This record gives sequence, C-alpha cells and structure tokens, in this order.
Amino acid sequence: MLLEVKDLYVKYGNIEALHGISFHVNRGEIVTLIGSNGAGKTTTLHTVTRVPPPEGPKVFQGDILYRGESILGVEAHNIVQKYKIALAPEGRHIFGNLTVEENLKLGSFARKDPDGVKKDYARVYDLFPRMAERRNQRSESLSGGEQQMLAVGRALMTGCDFILLDEPSMGLAPLLMYDMFRTLKTLNEQGMTILLIEQNANLALKFAHRAYVLDTGEIVMKGPAGELAENPEIQKAYLG
Ligand code: ATP
Repeated sequence: MLLEVKDLYVKYGNIEALHGISFHVNRGEIVTLIGSNGAGKTTTLHTVTRVPPPEGPKVFQGDILYRGESILGVEAHNIVQKYKIALAPEGRHIFGNLTVEENLKLGSFARKDPDGVKKDYARVYDLFPRMAERRNQRSESLSGGEQQMLAVGRALMTGCDFILLDEPSMGLAPLLMYDMFRTLKTLNEQGMTILLIEQNANLALKFAHRAYVLDTGEIVMKGPAGELAENPEIQKAYLG
C-alpha cells in the first residue's frame, strides 16, 4: 500500500467537509475518486498534499500514511521534495505570464539531480508533443486542453513517484479528454501511481483500476472501476 487514508475528518474553519473517509492506493494503481459538486474530492487531494490554510483544509481526526509512515505533520514542500508526491492542479493554475518551458522548470526547481531533470523534460515532451511544439509560448495563450497538459507536465517535473490529478479532463473537448486519459494510462504503464478526481465518472471508470464514490464528505461506495461502472445505482446517479 502506497497511500492509506484512515478515518479522516477535515474542516474549513468550523465547517466539516470530510466526515471520516478511508481509502487506499496501491503502488502502480490508477485510483479515482468520483462524486458530484461539493462532495469533497478537491478537499481530499488538498489534504493529502497538505495545502496550507487559509485555502487549505485542516485535519482534526484520522491519519494519512504514506509507505506506512504518517505524513500528517509534513509541510507541503516536503510532501513533494521528500515524499515525491505531486499535485497536478486544474490547468488554469499554471503561471500564464511564463512560457511552457518556464512553467516546467518551476516544477523541477528544488531538484538536485540534473540528469533526472533532463530525462523528465524528455518524458514530458514525449508524452505531450504539443508542449514541445509550444515550449517558448506564453502559457496564457495555450488552449484549455494544453494548459491541462502543462499542469500535468509541471507535476511530473518534480520527479514524483505518485501523482494526484485534479480533474484532468476539465474543459477538454471529448476527443481531447480521451487523449489525456490515454496519456495518463501510458504514464501509469511506465510505473507512475495515480490518484485522480473526476466529475466525468464515465471516463474515470474506464481508465482506473479501482474507484471510490464520495458523497457530501463520505465514501458511499467502492470497488473495481469496471464493477462500479456496471452498478445501476452508480449509472443512475453519476453516469447519466
Ligand atoms: P467540485 O467537483 O465542485 O470541485 P469537490 O468534490 O471537489 O467539488 P470540494 O471542493 O472538496 O468538493 O468541497 C467540499 C466542501 O468543502 C464543499 O461544501 C465546499 O463548499 C467546502 N469548501 C471547499 N473549499 C473550501 C474553502 N477553501 N473554504 C471553505 N469551504 C470550502
């Protein structure tokens, strides 16, 4: 087990957003958290990656273990640098006034393995050839889909072993969504463990190994993604 979230309760100020959720991610898996608006998906990712208050959520009960060790007291920068867990936020969180390559460089700024950084540039440009073509373009002029690619690419430049993805299909046309998920699958086949949250449950369940369904801060269902996709309750509530 790479990540284990145990009976986690989380608040923003006085408002409780997660009411005792438990889930885990095994090494080499793609796991997805699905659920409707406000279910607590982003809160879960931000809790694991320790996004600090005021925007960040506060844990008041439960634990988060990574490779068997509690990471609850660890600061956000060490989650990336020491534990090699990276968050790829929604594409609109890239730095618009910087070029593609400058954004990627930011992902790698704390690394001390120049050879690894070089390899990761090559990997990102190989996974997303569009980023290679646009490497000197200011990021604000990229399309929504390209910005999503860049957000994933920047996270990969940290040299992470585990990537958390916030709505990678957000704002993409259907064909591009498939491209994005195929790329994520390739990345997973190369050894990357992935936890992703998605509103597009159809797509997420096609590509993930396992899934958890979040509803108003609680996990209400879990199982192999293929099984959940066939479940009539899930189909009615999330698959349209
Ligand atoms: P969406 O798919 O709409 O992004 P989500 O499943 O990611 O939804 P969260 O963004 O995690 O849901 O929100 C869970 C709950 O926590 C919601 O009730 C939301 O209003 C609340 N919340 C989220 N961020 C904050 C914040 N910074 N301050 C206060 N409350 C917040």
